[in-house]
Amino acid sequence: MTAPGVRDAGYDDFVDALAEGEGYYLECENGHGTLPPRRVCPHCGSRELVETALPETGTIDSYTVVHVAAPAFADDVPYAVAVADFGAVRLTGQLQSDLDAVETGLTVAPRVGKSETTGERLLTFELR
Ligand SMILES: [Zn+2]
Repeated sequence: MTAPGVRDAGYDDFVDALAEGEGYYLECENGHGTLPPRRVCPHCGSRELVETALPETGTIDSYTVVHVAAPAFADDVPYAVAVADFGAVRLTGQLQSDLDAVETGLTVAPRVGKSETTGERLLTFELR
């Protein structure tokens, strides 16, 4: 059973929505948040996952500056990979600029950028 209005919960759909400024996460009836693609809440096993609007901004929880990357990201360095807290969910994304300014507790907005190396879409953060 799929509730009305729930997409096929694929990661590409999630990225599409985020690119349009309509990011969402999946929330079960117990308030656990998770990111697509999921059909079952990883916290409690609920299958009643409802798309819930992602807050426009989150807060950097932790980050790592990458100077030497795997081949798939070789042309992206240096960049930071940050984990940001959006309340019910955490997103991991790349920060491609302002590396000297990055610190935990900063406010970021999720964006969809692309890898300098492969051109593939990836989740990025913009400092706010
Ligand atoms: Zn749950």
